[in-house]
Amino acid sequence: MKTYLVTGGCGFIGSNFILYLFKKYGEENTIINLDKLTYAGNPENLRSIEKLPNYIFVQGDICDEKCIREIFNSYEIDYVVHFAAESHVDRSILSSKEFVVSNVLGTTVLLDAARKAWLCGDDTYLTGKRYLQVSTDEVYGALGATGYFSERTPLDPHSPYSASKAAADLLVKSYYDTHKMPINITRCSNNYGPYQYPEKLIPLIITNCLIKKPLPVYGDGMNVRDWLYVEDHCRAIDLVLEKGIIGEIYNIGGHNEWTNIEIIKIIISYLHNYYDTSIDESLITFVTDRKGHDRRYAIDATKIEEELGWVPIVSFQEGIIKTIEWYIANLDLIPV
Ligand code: NAD
Repeated sequence: MKTYLVTGGCGFIGSNFILYLFKKYGEENTIINLDKLTYAGNPENLRSIEKLPNYIFVQGDICDEKCIREIFNSYEIDYVVHFAAESHVDRSILSSKEFVVSNVLGTTVLLDAARKAWLCGDDTYLTGKRYLQVSTDEVYGALGATGYFSERTPLDPHSPYSASKAAADLLVKSYYDTHKMPINITRCSNNYGPYQYPEKLIPLIITNCLIKKPLPVYGDGMNVRDWLYVEDHCRAIDLVLEKGIIGEIYNIGGHNEWTNIEIIKIIISYLHNYYDTSIDESLITFVTDRKGHDRRYAIDATKIEEELGWVPIVSFQEGIIKTIEWYIANLDLIPV
């Protein structure tokens, strides 16, 4: 029996992670979900478990020291799984302050609260405690046509979003180096699946197709991302919490590279064949490229595969169909 503090649990990956914990472990753990409910947070995502006695929702801000202190005073937290963040690159290009506040300051507030609650001597901590920072491959910058990001790749973030995530990663690592705090950092490639706010590529394209709006494609559409089904990411986080070596960083990736335009055509083709023949490539609209748009991301996940035995189990073909079908079934819940 563990008590988890999950931050950002009403967002895309956080809500999938909480549902995954209930699916895998039943009701044996206590899950506290702390979420500010920004535009990206939707409590509806957790409707199926919200009445369970061992699920506790707290609406609050990770930057609010008093709120965080009260949570640590009220519950014996074993695991902090820190998802909460401003997460959209385009928004960070328009205005970066909120990214620094939530992603960097918020992380230090959580680290300090966890450290204080778990410290039981001079840089020694209660056993079984773990702080996991959920980070992104975007902290490594961009790749050319070949090569992969490993955990040893130097950080070289290009957008205000990825810069704020890299800053947070460095703070988390510093709490291990300085204070020996029991931390891990995971850096994952692009996720897709249910419950994602429709501003990111895959849910945006699916929902725009469903409501017959133009499909905006940045630049030439040839930017490459490595896509991972969200449940495979949740499984990896669970594994790192249970078996990861304290202080280590683990890359998580799908070995599943696609250009943006390929992804868009796959979605159109599925919807055209199985949903509505009027959905076709005429909806594609090329728009001015994103400023500083990273060309390619690709993860070398050898470390988590060899040391912890993790591999992705949902194929892209299966995952993209599940995702499209979920958006079709839940279109009325999606802010479009
Ligand atoms: P999201 O934008 O869907 O959800 C973020 C959640 O955090 C929302 O529920 C929001 O309300 C909450 N939040 C934001 N600021 C907060 C604050 N100050 N206090 C409390 N709650 C706050 O994001 P996501 O796509 O689920 O990403 C979750 C984490 O995973 C992020 O840290 C992101 O950097 C990382 N990540 C995402 C991806 C991806 O493909 N989406 C890939 C790798 C890593």
